[in-house]
Amino acid sequence: MNSSDIQAALAAAHAKYASCTAGANASYIPELAKVPSTLFGIAAVTTAGETISVGDAETPFAIESISKAFNLALVMDQIGAPALREKVGADPTGEPFNSVLAIVAHGGRPLNPLVNAGAMATVSLVAGENSNAIWANIMQRLAAFAGHPLKINDDVYASESATNSHNKGIAWLLDSAGYFYNQPDMIVDLYTRMCSLNVTTKDLAVMGASYANGGVNPITGERTVQRENIAEILAELTMSGLYDSTGDWLYRTGLPAKSGVGGGIVVVVPNKMAIAAFSPPLDKYGNSVRAENALIDIIETLGLNPLKS
Ligand code: GLU
Repeated sequence: MNSSDIQAALAAAHAKYASCTAGANASYIPELAKVPSTLFGIAAVTTAGETISVGDAETPFAIESISKAFNLALVMDQIGAPALREKVGADPTGEPFNSVLAIVAHGGRPLNPLVNAGAMATVSLVAGENSNAIWANIMQRLAAFAGHPLKINDDVYASESATNSHNKGIAWLLDSAGYFYNQPDMIVDLYTRMCSLNVTTKDLAVMGASYANGGVNPITGERTVQRENIAEILAELTMSGLYDSTGDWLYRTGLPAKSGVGGGIVVVVPNKMAIAAFSPPLDKYGNSVRAENALIDIIETLGLNPLKS
């Protein structure tokens, strides 16, 4: 497969799904409802550092839950995969990403670092003696993945901060069960800021490419995650990366991925590339309809499903 094959697959998927009107922008974070629904970008970054893109691949949007997949590297490197599994977990919840029922049904455990509960518990494990120090660590790691510093989308941050009482409730519930590792209100604020960072579709592909490339950003050459933690991180993405439709996604692609309610999805193809897509309208699970369909087509066209012989 060469770069013109990848370019052709990206262009074909973009052309096919640009006119798809299914889904709706996330509205529980009011600011996300205002993003133009027609935006649609796709980008791939290979382990050789080649970038291929089509459509609105340089338009910034809120990273939202996709940040969970990269903050996870910071905490895995800090405490190791066995400790992360014990303190947060490595099992799908079978429930929506912000489910309280899932926590209560499992003795207060968050179950995995990709649902809101587990992601906030993971942020609560980031080293740092105060909010500023923790935030600096998160920003530094995410910048290493992207290859440049990421900026907060102030409107999304304000909008989400004004409407995140459900997440605060989850954090306090975990705290009461002994599965939160720092002050809940401070951590929810840092988590909300992290979700409000702007990325482009190209940024997401660069970020995912480290996981395809043994833990080294193929554009900058910087190590972003210890190699020994990648398999466990990708296992978490494989189990829970696309909310409670991860099983359907895996059935069709065989690959680890992570979506966010901002409309982005990034998929990691180990030892080959990462591919990202972005379009705001979401299905009922919270996954971008255009992005998911386009990625499924591209994976099929390029023969990237590792479970197929
Ligand atoms: N910040 C969002 C929340 O906590 C992230 C949700 C997502 O993208 O799944 O609700």
